[in-house]
Amino acid sequence: MIRQKSFENEKPTLYLVATPIGNLSEMTPRAVEILKSVNVIACEDTRTSGQMLKHFDIHNRLISYQNFNEESSTHGIIGMLAQGQNIALISDAGYPLINDPGQRVVSEASALGYNVVPVSGSSAVLNALVASGLVAQPFLFVGFLPQSDTERRRRLKEFANYPMTLIFYESPHRITRCLKSCLEILGDRRCVLAREMTKLHEEFIRGTVKEILEVSEELKGEMVIVMDGNKDDYRKDVDYSALINMVHERVASGMARSEAVREVASSAGISRNRLYDLFHNRES
Ligand code: SAM
Repeated sequence: MIRQKSFENEKPTLYLVATPIGNLSEMTPRAVEILKSVNVIACEDTRTSGQMLKHFDIHNRLISYQNFNEESSTHGIIGMLAQGQNIALISDAGYPLINDPGQRVVSEASALGYNVVPVSGSSAVLNALVASGLVAQPFLFVGFLPQSDTERRRRLKEFANYPMTLIFYESPHRITRCLKSCLEILGDRRCVLAREMTKLHEEFIRGTVKEILEVSEELKGEMVIVMDGNKDDYRKDVDYSALINMVHERVASGMARSEAVREVASSAGISRNRLYDLFHNRES
């Protein structure tokens, strides 16, 4: 066990500093103060961060920390901590580690007993969640889903029965395919697409997966999807027996089981996995 009393020891510190996700006014005075005070700032892209830091009159030494050089950079940062230097880790935007590099150095620095101190700021996941209008907790932050359709569907199946609110990051050129997979695997749930948050063109689109699919092709910018968890257990309005009978009728008339379940679940706006489970249990 290691206990860290962050401000009651003389040990070197690795600060994890959140930076704005758009609006530079969201940089906190504490973040600026710490970034000015450390010996070195580790960042993803020295040019991108260099510009942002210049805006705040921060001119410290920058080193690169990216997923592809994570092992060697971690080694370098641990070496600097061992020499008594304080380091700040930032990413291009938001919190480091939240779908950004940093996991390895934080795991190693904390295991070695150095201080690891968070410096609060904005993060797209929390901004989207709190403004979504959906239930704020419990929630599951998934990050980016796999790019391949097969892998994405497989991953979504893992969450299909989870009752907690789900949050995904997605890029504009994959958003339609992602939502189609969500519709197929999770059903037509309530969904909020949060776009360009804190920036001039910030937009929240609140509807269902199907409704958002109607406009998703035209959407640009950075985006987060927030989606209801599986609420089937609470849905008193769904007549599951009738739905199972509809699956039976389709199967009896020659349709494949999986296709019959998919079609009925989709038309009723419920989870395909849940209907499949019920159908399967009734049969066995
Ligand atoms: N570290 C960041 C954080 O704490 O949110 C996330 C970095 S991740 C590489 C970038 C993704 O975060 C984007 O593709 C988008 O899904 C989401 N994102 C970042 N900024 C955003 C914004 N201003 N509005 C909506 N989504 C944003």
